Order: sequence, then structure tokens, then C-alpha cells
Amino acid sequence: MTGENCTSGCRTKDHATWGECMRSKRMLVGAMDPGHVKKWDGELYDYRDLRAQGIQPAGTTRMHIEAAKEISDNMGRPYNADELSPTEAVKNDRIERHTGKPIEEVLSV
Ligand SMILES: [Zn+2]
Repeated sequence: MTGENCTSGCRTKDHATWGECMRSKRMLVGAMDPGHVKKWDGELYDYRDLRAQGIQPAGTTRMHIEAAKEISDNMGRPYNADELSPTEAVKNDRIERHTGKPIEEVLSV
């Protein structure tokens, strides 16, 4: 059952719907915001890569990883979810624009 709705290139195979999977995929390449393509292309960090940089996502899902990258970028330093909750860290709408979802929804995935 796991991954039955996922696209062929999906890494996590944990999406409830095909649309969710596609949104995740698009987010990976930053296709929702052309301004992000250049910025994030070639920087598809996985969780371990983030940790190596001192970034602590709130979770290991792609959503959390992307959010942690955005928050780190916003703050200009590695984000640590243990020190600051994601919702407190985000007081602007950059993550919202990046993922197309409210931050609360992003971080609850
Ligand atoms: Zn998927």
C-alpha cells in the first residue's frame, strides 16, 4: 500500500495522494518558484547533509528538511528545531511561498 500513489521517481514513497507526491517532487527542484531553482539546484541536501551543516530539522520528512533549509536561509545560520520551534522561527511568508502551503501545514506533515 505504501507508495502506491507515488510517482515513479519518488524517494520516500510515503505520500497519501499522487498530488501530494507531485507537490513534494516539485518542491525538491524548486519548480514552484523559478527564483528558487538557481538557489537550490544542486543543493538537494538529505537529512544527513543538513545535520552535517549543523541544521536540525524538526523531522526527517522532505517537508521538514525543506522547511529547515528555508528557516536557516531566513535566519542566516543553521536552524535547530530543538532550540526553536519551527512555527516560532518563521515569522514571515517565505516558506509559505516556497511550498505553497501555510507553514503550520508544512510542519505537521
Ligand atoms: Zn511520493
